[in-house]
Amino acid sequence: MRLILLGAPGAGKGTVAKMLTALDGSVQISTGDILRGAVKEGTELGKKAKGFMDAGDLVPDDLILDIMGERLLEDDCKAGFLLDGFPRTIPQAEALKGMLSKLGIELDAAVNLDVAREIILDRLTTRRTCSNSACQEIYNTKSKPSKVEGVCDKCGSPTIQRDDETEEAISKRLDTFNEQTAPLVGFYKQEGLLLDVNATSSDTVVAAIKAKVGL
Ligand code: AMP
Repeated sequence: MRLILLGAPGAGKGTVAKMLTALDGSVQISTGDILRGAVKEGTELGKKAKGFMDAGDLVPDDLILDIMGERLLEDDCKAGFLLDGFPRTIPQAEALKGMLSKLGIELDAAVNLDVAREIILDRLTTRRTCSNSACQEIYNTKSKPSKVEGVCDKCGSPTIQRDDETEEAISKRLDTFNEQTAPLVGFYKQEGLLLDVNATSSDTVVAAIKAKVGL
């Protein structure tokens, strides 16, 4: 399947993407994960992106479009892809449309994961992520704790609270989302691609997507 996952930080895009990859071999492409990897490795991209990320701001479109222009050409995308956290601005959505049309690829849907702000705030402040960039398993101190506190069940690395998951940065990220990313819902509605789902439970979201793509 070829999907865009739209939704505020904490709406569950990453969790849903991981559940969907298991269904048909589509690959999850998370610009956030790519950027965090670059920051950790200290690459030029990482150095340019870190300040924006820590402040809860968006990284400039040109950097993101360079990443995605290359990523979509990789072989693993042939089986399908789930775009998690991209596009995040109207210019990114326009650029993606151009890239896909050049590649002759059609999207199945742009899925809008709709969740109330209070639920999101609670989810993000209690979220913990595996610090191993090859793993990045997501936990939640309330709803999905690791078996041993602070240690990833899958790979044994420490689980951490992300730098951009302090209350101040979360509040900024939600404002950024409302200003710059929420308008994409209208964009994809106009494109005839929008699938709106109540995202309080990931299982419900996955069921709605399966029905949409005929799995
Ligand atoms: P995420 O893990 O998707 O919440 O992304 C973490 C941070 O990476 C965001 O708060 C942004 O600073 C940056 N980021 C990720 N994807 C994008 C994007 N498509 N455009 C701009 N910035 C992005």
